[in-house]
Amino acid sequence: MAGARTRTAVLEAPRKLRIVERDRPAAGPDEVIIRTAATAVCHTDLSIYTGEHPGVKYPVVMGHEATGVVEATGENVTRLKRGQHVLINPIIACGHCDMCERGKGNLCRNAGLFGREIEGSLSEVVRLDQRYVHALPPQLSLAHATIIETLATVRHAQHRVSVAPAESVVVLGMGTAGLLHVRLAVLTGASPVIAVSRSRWKLERAERMGAHFLVEAAVDKAVEEVRRLTGGLGADVVIDAAGGAETLRSAIEMLRPGGRFSAFAVSHAHVKRFSTFPLYFGEISIVGSRALTPQDMNPSIELVASGAVDVSGFITEKYPLSRAREAFREYESNPSRILRIVIESGA
Ligand SMILES: [Zn+2]
Ligand SMILES: [Zn+2]
Repeated sequence: MAGARTRTAVLEAPRKLRIVERDRPAAGPDEVIIRTAATAVCHTDLSIYTGEHPGVKYPVVMGHEATGVVEATGENVTRLKRGQHVLINPIIACGHCDMCERGKGNLCRNAGLFGREIEGSLSEVVRLDQRYVHALPPQLSLAHATIIETLATVRHAQHRVSVAPAESVVVLGMGTAGLLHVRLAVLTGASPVIAVSRSRWKLERAERMGAHFLVEAAVDKAVEEVRRLTGGLGADVVIDAAGGAETLRSAIEMLRPGGRFSAFAVSHAHVKRFSTFPLYFGEISIVGSRALTPQDMNPSIELVASGAVDVSGFITEKYPLSRAREAFREYESNPSRILRIVIESGA
């Protein structure tokens, strides 16, 4: 295969996605060459595609929620073998800054994302340092396994906000991450776990994930119902998987004194008319959570491989790499109808 050509989807400028042929890469001593199988497209990709993501340098090869098959390994790689199924950890860390030295590579001062700062997986073949490559059990579908990257970010956030058994947890927004938040909180033993969404079909998915209560409403209209479902006390934890500046105030109104708010979803919008008094009065904690750490990867793989988290229903559309442009057009025009679009690239 060496020397053969490979196809890559290059985003030359916002909304200008083109398939180009290039030379196949060769592995350096610590590198792995992966024939990519599947890439799940998330909101980060969509914002890179439309040009709304700040600080992106075009051209860019997108794709960071990806699986594939090892094609070749460098001389120092002993952990991974040709033919092995793998999942990519897309959080690129320098390994030598103060945050990396503290084991917080997700907060690396020189951090990057595979599929944004370095070329991503919308390509038939990628080359990566072995530390970003995790082995998958062979029986796991490579398309389904793309969801594990999101699960790892969800796991990281729930560790950060310390979800504990018997605590009441509210999850706002039932996209892929929201549904995974529901499932993980249920597995931890949180109770009740309350799913909030305006979308009936997404709430039905939340019920399958084990949610104890479903609230079909916009976040600001759900406050009273959450209070009622928690016996008038308010919830221990509210996780924002919806995003949006106005969510914060409603979320804090849903919390009991001492409650914790997980700011999981990212919003660039400003929060208006917000006072810190409720934080003081109720000793409310607002907990940020960025991406995932390498330590979240293998436990997340195990959660899916064991069947504890069933990800088979998350992929609502599939496209081949040659039709990546259509995939993004579909995502942009119908975001509320889609959980995850997966782009398949051959392996
Ligand atoms: Zn993503
Ligand atoms: Zn670093």
